[in-house]
Amino acid sequence: MQGPIVDLVLLMLLVLFFGLQQRRRPQVYFRFWFAGWILVFFSYVVWAVQDVPETLVRVQNAICFNFLLLGVLTFIVSLVASEQGLRRIILSGLAIAGSVMIIVDTQEFLVIPRLLLVVGVLVCQGIVFYSAYTLLPQRWTRRRGMILTICVVYGAALLAYVLMTSATNLDTAAVVEALLCAAVLYSGSARRRNVSGWAGTVGFAAWAGFELLSIHTGNSPSLDKALYEFWNFPKYFVGFSMILRVFEDTADDKARMAETFRDLYEDFRLLYNTHPHPMWIRDDLKGWLLTANEAALKEYGYSMEEFQTMRMADLEVPGDTEAEEFESMLDEPTEGARVRHRHKDSRVVWVNVVEREIMYLGKKARLVIARNVTERLKLDRELSYRAQHDVLTGLPNRQLLEERLDQCLQSCRVEERRAAVLTIDVDHFKMINDTYGHLVGDECLKEVAARLKSKIRKVDTIARTGGEEFTAIVSGLSKASDAEKVAASLMRVFEAPVELAFGALGVTVSIGVAVYPDDAPDATTLRRLSDEAMYRAKRAGRNRAAYASDKAPVLDFKKPETSEMSRRSALSAE
Ligand code: GH3
Ligand code: MG
Ligand code: MG
Repeated sequence: MQGPIVDLVLLMLLVLFFGLQQRRRPQVYFRFWFAGWILVFFSYVVWAVQDVPETLVRVQNAICFNFLLLGVLTFIVSLVASEQGLRRIILSGLAIAGSVMIIVDTQEFLVIPRLLLVVGVLVCQGIVFYSAYTLLPQRWTRRRGMILTICVVYGAALLAYVLMTSATNLDTAAVVEALLCAAVLYSGSARRRNVSGWAGTVGFAAWAGFELLSIHTGNSPSLDKALYEFWNFPKYFVGFSMILRVFEDTADDKARMAETFRDLYEDFRLLYNTHPHPMWIRDDLKGWLLTANEAALKEYGYSMEEFQTMRMADLEVPGDTEAEEFESMLDEPTEGARVRHRHKDSRVVWVNVVEREIMYLGKKARLVIARNVTERLKLDRELSYRAQHDVLTGLPNRQLLEERLDQCLQSCRVEERRAAVLTIDVDHFKMINDTYGHLVGDECLKEVAARLKSKIRKVDTIARTGGEEFTAIVSGLSKASDAEKVAASLMRVFEAPVELAFGALGVTVSIGVAVYPDDAPDATTLRRLSDEAMYRAKRAGRNRAAYASDKAPVLDFKKPETSEMSRRSALSAE
């Protein structure tokens, strides 16, 4: 009993081993090997039962045979499973097993007429041949040829066996054929440097040989003794070959992973070196630059050795007011930080810096990408400048004036201070256009704008809000009458004639003034009141300022009219 128990324990271990493997590994053959060893295990369990009553010996034999045949067929299926549809393969396996089992099991219990037995063997061989022919891939030329040959030659031998003897060991003969087929198929899974396939082939072939010898009568006593001692070995050789396959697969997986990793690393290097944006890998802790890509070397002008003595911060230019002003005009970068970098030739550029944590040479590091956004920022700045400024004079336009007026009123409300809105309109400007043409008119407008701007503080605003109309916002007034001083200073800038290409031209303006909060608390009303005041100044004779608070114009700037002015006045009178 000791022998069978050791046998069962070893088979149980094989079952457990493949039970674990088939759960952990993706390869489908581990599942079949697990199933196959369970079937072989059951076969041996039944076989190990001793002292079976005479009447049940045949049943025991039949069960042993059935499980063993199914087990070996499962091993065969495991090798074809990856080549064909699983359903088709399992169905073929069941057809073979079913037909063989019907004949063999019937023969175990009944006496089958020889002719019927011959027909049965022929049918079974036919099914095996057809299955091998259709299921084995054409490219397995050698193995396919060998298995078809086995079907024919072994089939013929079986027929002879059935015809010439009482064929009492037909069950073992059937198992032998399955084992031979398995031996042939396993030789194909032997790849270069892999011995598991060959070990499997040797194991199955030896198993078939031992089974054959066990039914052969007339062996020498020493051979029979050897058979008795070693008949179990081939089975374990098969098991050993399958375990070997597990280790080979593990080694293969590792090699494949190493290869994938190498490929990935190469891809990364290629991407890194040929990337159009400058990139660096920097030390995570101290920030030293470890390496730079070609774009960084080319764009920044430093050599790799120079970079390796620097940190990212060494490239950065600290912020200044101009930079902050510029930046405040632009959107926040969607990712990373926007900083200024200085190149080796002192050129300063705006960059968007994005960092990513990576592993570099086994250590934590950071991949830094700097995208030069200077041109884009310049374009953005120009676009936003154009959207808010007048092209001819360069002054803020109506839209920007309205924004500034809102801001100004807000801070005046908080600080409880005054602000004035002054609408300034050039007198009889149409005449300048009509007399000297539009180009001269434009030149004149530019000069008017420049003179007005020269009298407005940087914190205040002077905007072009119409063809020849300008609006000033002056904040920080302590009393309403301060606005008069501002208006007076604006009028005074036109005392001197405007020098144009063709000569001097006298220009006067009319100004309307409204004061926050004295005249109105909101921007719209302030602008309306200052407009209305300006028209009152016009009606009162032009070249003067009028106030929203006064219904009559208070300032009248009479100045000695140039000859040009008198000509224009004469023209307007006509
Ligand atoms: P008032 O004293 O009543 O303001 O008379 P005015 O002629 O200045 O006023 P009016 O509104 O009749 O005419 C303004 C003129 O300004 C009409 C238009 O052709 C001219 N103008 C508007 N924009 C421009 C410009 O960009 N360039 C030039 N050259 N002329 C302009
Ligand atoms: Mg005008
Ligand atoms: Mg006008």
